[in-house]
Amino acid sequence: MNDNTKTISNLAAIDAAHHLHPFSDMGKLNVSGTRIIERAEGVFIYDSTGKKYLDAFAGLWCVNIGYGRREMTDAISRQMNELPYYNAFFGTTTPPATLLAQKIVSHAGSNMNHVFFTNSGSEATDTWFRMARVYWKALGHPTKTKVIARRNGYHGSTVAAASLGGMPWMHEQGNLPIEGIAHIGQPYWYAEGGDLSPDEFGLKVARELDAKIDELGEENVAAFVAEPIQGAGGVIVPPETYWPEIARICKERNILLVSDEVICGFGRLGSWFGYQHFGYEPDLAPVAKGLSSGYLPIGGVLVSDRVAEVMLTKVGDFNHGFTYSGHPVCAAAALENLRIIEDEGLVERVRDDIGPYFRQGWHSLLDHETVGETVSVGLIGGLQLTADKATRRRFDKPDDIGTLVRNHCLENGLVMRATGDRMLASPAFTISRTEVDQIIEILRKGLDHLAQTGR
Ligand code: PLP
Repeated sequence: MNDNTKTISNLAAIDAAHHLHPFSDMGKLNVSGTRIIERAEGVFIYDSTGKKYLDAFAGLWCVNIGYGRREMTDAISRQMNELPYYNAFFGTTTPPATLLAQKIVSHAGSNMNHVFFTNSGSEATDTWFRMARVYWKALGHPTKTKVIARRNGYHGSTVAAASLGGMPWMHEQGNLPIEGIAHIGQPYWYAEGGDLSPDEFGLKVARELDAKIDELGEENVAAFVAEPIQGAGGVIVPPETYWPEIARICKERNILLVSDEVICGFGRLGSWFGYQHFGYEPDLAPVAKGLSSGYLPIGGVLVSDRVAEVMLTKVGDFNHGFTYSGHPVCAAAALENLRIIEDEGLVERVRDDIGPYFRQGWHSLLDHETVGETVSVGLIGGLQLTADKATRRRFDKPDDIGTLVRNHCLENGLVMRATGDRMLASPAFTISRTEVDQIIEILRKGLDHLAQTGR
């Protein structure tokens, strides 16, 4: 790129003219301009004006080992030189893909011993969706095809994944959801729990699954899917009663339990997988993001012995896969990422050290007049903005309120995310205590700004 095209105004103009952005109002980019991120190091990103931001969101919940790790570039370039591409179709493999499958299952628990590779979390969602149906058909239950998911869940952006997600604003675009998908409520006690205690509410929403299976007919339901903690939905941590009840229902009603580990997988909750933190055993578990810390695109589905045995002995060809399933360079990047997480004890650091430190700071914000709830597990945090603490009253325009705080943080050099009236954080596992303090300090200023101007 020459200096001319690199000037900020040029890039912004070129971008507005040619680049269609995901999850953006593209018409507005011409007016507001695109933020151009040029480089990054540790937990900091730098834009094209030279401004430095603390990235409290690790990209999109993914750069868990931090930016600028030379070990990653070395591993990637070594593999690039050795074998830049070969596929895993028709009984072939490459050393990194095979070794990565072994490495992943070594952390996944004794009943999870197989992995199917994809390029993203959305493809992982489409993959388990088909696999669940194939599984039941192979067992002689061809009508078991429907999948139950949750309102305000997020599972990706392909047609099946956006349908499984419970976001009405996504369903509005593209005639979604597709057939065969039903939604039940979410364990969002703050907004929907009313007078029930969190534990009572957790049981109540879990039992909606039972009722939905009755309504659809057990013989027609293949699976239930949920994130251990809803991420994009606002970092909703379910009440303690929720997951044990869900796991019980899935078992008793004989439907597959799918744990979407795309955000929670590989350490974010201070456990290797979210299901380990909450103590349940899924049948299928899609992963992505933290598998390579976002350095290169790769995802997959962890497959339990129950499902794998059927896939291996009764299905024959599984007519599904992607040109880049198990791409050797992406797999080499993921292997190096997992080596770093292991060698630096990052899962333990999240669980025992920086996670609890983050929790202390995050929960200190509860004393603010605009904050109704703070939740965190490991290094993921959600903070509920409220117009009235005592009654849990929401602001009239929740989206505007979250955006107001988020933009104030951005002006002050902190990247956070807002989902409606919830502020979300999910920093890199390598973040220092001083950097955690910075997040809390800048966010508190954003909350002050809301208190002064936002009502
Ligand atoms: N599942 C969950 C829980 C996610 O948060 C995401 C992305 O944010 C996805 C699936 C989709 O992943 P991708 O964007 O890699 O397709």
